[in-house]
This record gives sequence, C-alpha cells and structure tokens, in this order.
Amino acid sequence: MSAGQVRPAAGPAGGTPDRLLRVVVGAAVAWMAGYVVLTALGRDRPRLAMFVGDIVYLVPLVAGVLVAGLAVRRSRGRHRTLWRLLTVAFVAQLAGECAWAGYDYLTEDGPPAPSVADLGYLTASTVMVIAVLVGFGGAGRLRHLRGLVDSTLIIVTLGALGWRMLVQPQLTEAVTAADLVNLAYPLLDVVLLACLGIVGMAGHDSVPLSVRLVGAAGAVNAVSDMVYIYLAAFSAYDSGGWVDAGFEAASMLCLLAAVVAVRRPESPARPLSFDRGLPLLPILMALTATSALVVFDKVRTGAVGDLTLIVVGVLFLTVMLRQYLFAADRAGLAEQLARAVEEQQRLAVTDGLTGLYNRRYLMTQVERLGAAAGGAPVSLMVVDLDHFKLVNDTFGHLAGDAVLAAAATRIASAARADDVVARYGGEEFVVLLAGADAPEARSVAERVRRHLRETPIVAGGAAISVTASIGVASAPDGSVRQLLEAADRALYRAKAEGRDRVSAAVTPTADPVAV
Ligand code: GH3
Ligand code: MG
Ligand code: MG
Repeated sequence: MSAGQVRPAAGPAGGTPDRLLRVVVGAAVAWMAGYVVLTALGRDRPRLAMFVGDIVYLVPLVAGVLVAGLAVRRSRGRHRTLWRLLTVAFVAQLAGECAWAGYDYLTEDGPPAPSVADLGYLTASTVMVIAVLVGFGGAGRLRHLRGLVDSTLIIVTLGALGWRMLVQPQLTEAVTAADLVNLAYPLLDVVLLACLGIVGMAGHDSVPLSVRLVGAAGAVNAVSDMVYIYLAAFSAYDSGGWVDAGFEAASMLCLLAAVVAVRRPESPARPLSFDRGLPLLPILMALTATSALVVFDKVRTGAVGDLTLIVVGVLFLTVMLRQYLFAADRAGLAEQLARAVEEQQRLAVTDGLTGLYNRRYLMTQVERLGAAAGGAPVSLMVVDLDHFKLVNDTFGHLAGDAVLAAAATRIASAARADDVVARYGGEEFVVLLAGADAPEARSVAERVRRHLRETPIVAGGAAISVTASIGVASAPDGSVRQLLEAADRALYRAKAEGRDRVSAAVTPTADPVAV
C-alpha cells in the first residue's frame, strides 16, 4: 500500500464481517438446527407439526420483510431497486404463507386449487426472477445485457417447449385454472434457476455478498419447490415436513441477505473481471430445446408449427445479438487490459514522489546511450540539494517531501526538453543530456542551480529556501559509462568548495579537474 492510498474504514462497510453479522449467522444456523429437531419431533405429533409448519416456519420470513425494508433505506441506486423488489417478493410470500396457514387451521381439506396462497407464492416467484435479473447487474452494462439476453433465450425456448409439450396437448380437454397454476410453479422455478445460472455466469465477481445470498435463497427455494411439486403429485406432502425445511432455509438465506445488505450496503467493484462461465451453454440449451420443439412438431403433426418458427427466429436473432455483445465485451476488456499494462509500464519507470523518471530508467538510458556511443557528445549532471537533512529536521518529513517534489519540477523545467531527468536517490537527481558538450551542459547546470535558489519553496506553511550543488561531466565521444562516477566526484568538489555551485569534470576518463 503506497502512501497515497487510504485504507477503508473498519466496520460494517469496510469489507470484513462485523460482530453483529457473525451473531446473526450463528443464530440463523442455530435456528435451522432447532427447526430440523422440531420437524423430527413433529413426525408423530400432528399438532406440533402444524405449529412448526404454520407459526415457527414464518418467523424468518417476517424478520426478512422487516430487515428488507431497512435494506431499502440503506441501499442506493440499483441495489435500492433490488431491495424494493425483494421486499415486495417477501411480503407476497408471507401473504401466501399466511393464507396457506389460515386454510390449514380453518378448513378440513386445506386450501382449494388455485387459492389466494397460490397468488402470493406466484407473485413472489415472479418478482424474485426480476429481482435476480436486476441484482446480478454488477459486472458491467454489456456483461449484464448479455446475461439478460441469455436468460431471455432460455425463458423463450424452454417456455415454448413447456407450452408445446405440456400445455397445448391438454388444451383439447378443458384446462382448469388449477392446471395452469400447477404448471406455473415448475416453469418459474426453471426460469429462476436458469436466470441465476446464466446471469450469475456472466461474470459476477463484483456482485455483493447480499445479492449472492439472495441468489442462493432463490436456488434453494426453487429446488425445494420442485421436490414439493413432485411429492404433491403423489399426495405425499405434509405441511411442517422435511420439504418445509428447504423453504425455511431459503427464508433464512433471504433474511441473512437483508442483514448483510443493511450492514454492508456498498461493495467495491473489481476493475477487471473476466467471465469464467461457459459462454456456449445458454446457446446449447436453447438449441437443444428448439431442436426438441422441431422434432416434437414433426412427430406430432408432420410439419413445423408457427410457434416453433418464431422460436427459431428468436434463437437466430438472439445468437447474433449475444455474439455482438460478447465481442464488444472482449474488446472492452482488451482495451482495459492494454491501458492497465501501459499504466504499469509508466509506473515501473516513474519515481512515486516526484513523478520524474526513476533510477532504473536512468540506468537503461545510460546503457542505451553507451551502446550507441560514437561521435556525438554526451553530458550528465548530478544535482544534490544542500543541507536537506536540515529541511526535514526543521519543517518535518512531509514538508521535506513537498520540497523534493517542487525541486524536481524546477529541475525538470530548467533542463532541456529532451533531457532525461531522474531521481537518483533521496535528494539527488541526475540529468542526462544527450548531444550536449561541456559548455552547454555547464550552462544548463547553472540554469538548474539558479532556478532552484531563485525563490523559496512554499511547503508545510513555510517558505523554504533551497540550494543545490551540481557536478557535471561530459564526454565528447559519447562514452557515457564513466560519466556518473566523474560527475559524482565533481559534485563532491562543489560541496567541499562551499555548496550552491556547479563543478565540472574536465574529462570523464581521467581524474576530473574542476574548472
Ligand atoms: P549535503 O548538503 O551534504 O548534501 O547535506 P544533506 O543534509 O542534504 O545530506 P545527507 O545526504 O546527509 O542527507 C540527505 C537527507 O535527505 C537525509 C534524508 O533524511 C533526506 N531524504 C532522503 N530521501 C528523502 C525523502 O524521500 N523525503 C524526505 N523528506 N527526505 C529525504
Ligand atoms: Mg545526498
Ligand atoms: Mg544533500
């Protein structure tokens, strides 16, 4: 972590689970364990089973409604929309459960089909699907759009297949509302699972924990519902039985999601995220469903029906659209990656405090010039701030840093446009002047010295006067390798002679002589 970064504040929004969250998770696990024990005990105690199934069962859901309301107030933007939808879903679910419990207590044979309870459940499931589509939108607009396109593809193709194979054949007989309601449950479950799988697959790296918990709740609920439908078909379902433990777990996950959303309303998005999903899976599912539709049509009627043709058209257009989105997403990622690499390359050669080149870059440039030596003159100067320790001691290290940054700017502006200006060490700078002979280098060095001492540098509320000693060395034939050492010796001489001056080495190879 560099000095410029700020560590996020500890606490609920900081990223680590807080104590309250841990307590709630512990209580949720304990509640589920108690619920399972009560369910086991209720197996041969019908009144207990009824109490567990109709009253105990509802507690997490009621708590979920309350906390979801709080999550709406705490969240912002898309997440607020998500929690509004989820609150509606929880209330609808609760209304359905209450209606179911009412029928259970007040009537002999339980609820009629369809009942008010079905209205609540189906509303909850439908809103839940929409909530998942809204909630899993954190991976970027393109990625989310592709997830939505994939979900639509699955919903349309599976819906058409379900209609053609399950509903339409029954249309000759009188289709009752109960038939349609019974069909809506598994269809919504499949749709929810498909949406979760596909929107989730479209890169959910940046989806917050609360939304992932909602997804898990939806999945547990859908699977429990399918088991329920299977058991109900054989009249083997008991209220307050094991299947209800699945629904209870789903309610509990929703409650946990709401608590997490209240305690950690924001989640940092990751800058780069690749979708690790199976990009072809939705297409394969849709192709399989469409092929099944074609085969079904041919076998049943000998010709491909209008509905199938429409589905084939939708499949074709969607595949084109999602391929475009996929390519655009990849292009966006490639651009992001290229920018990130460029930035890394810049950082690798830049000094963090002053923004000048760093020592590593300077050495590569010295090497480069050395390799190309032959003919053109080259000069180098080492600039060392005078009595800089005193600046730190008097004004503090932070003011010292500010003086260093300002001095760097002055050195760079006094140097020639093409010179390589680098921070060589703590308060030492090097300027590499390709093509400059000794007189020119000396004049640039004088300019740097004057520029530094001209006006005091304002830092830490004080005006701080700065001077520098400069050692210059030049090589008329471009042999740059010994220049650093020679300039350093010249600098030493400038210090010894009283500082705030330029000292030049006569030749880089022989012992430098001050001029
Ligand atoms: P001289 O005139 O002989 O060069 O004296 P000086 O005090 O400048 O020399 P010396 O090399 O003894 O001290 C350099 C000081 O620069 C010591 C160190 O605390 C300070 N320094 C080095 N790097 C940094 C930095 O990044 N920030 C700050 N604020 N000070 C630094
Ligand atoms: Mg020094
Ligand atoms: Mg110094």
